[in-house]
Amino acid sequence: MNKAVFLDRDGVINREKGSYVSNEDEFELLPGVPQALKVWAERGYLLIVITNQGGIAKKLYTLEQLHSIHMKMTGLLALHQVFLTDIFLCPHHPESGRCICRKPDSLMLEKAIAVHNISPFKSYFVGDQERDAMAGEKAGVTVIRVPPNQPLVSIVHLIR
Ligand SMILES: [Mg+2]
Ligand SMILES: [Zn+2]
Repeated sequence: MNKAVFLDRDGVINREKGSYVSNEDEFELLPGVPQALKVWAERGYLLIVITNQGGIAKKLYTLEQLHSIHMKMTGLLALHQVFLTDIFLCPHHPESGRCICRKPDSLMLEKAIAVHNISPFKSYFVGDQERDAMAGEKAGVTVIRVPPNQPLVSIVHLIR
């Protein structure tokens, strides 16, 4: 079975600016992210992003725009030889109806665990919000909660 570091996106990989990232220009990779992810990849962890993107349900941006943003993210990481195994996103928002994937629910994590044959017991969820911690706990992975926009290098040693 595989092991993984699951990553929230906004505030963990890119700068949380207090509003939705609706285009590539608003996507700013936080310093040290590629370096931290590279260490975890070298330790044998898959890298999988788990992100709520309720801005789609709110029609603030389209799925195509979100894919462009994620192309920028994967491109910036690839410059450092860092490759994400997968990205799971929830495009829903409670204002337009309930779903069971949006964090704090754990469906995105459970899908990732099933699709990529991951052992939750050997895996971690790094997130900056209470809902990330709740989703991670439901899925049985170890939660590491970081303050928004904190450089990941400060927690590299916690995932061995
Ligand atoms: Mg976040
Ligand atoms: Zn959803």
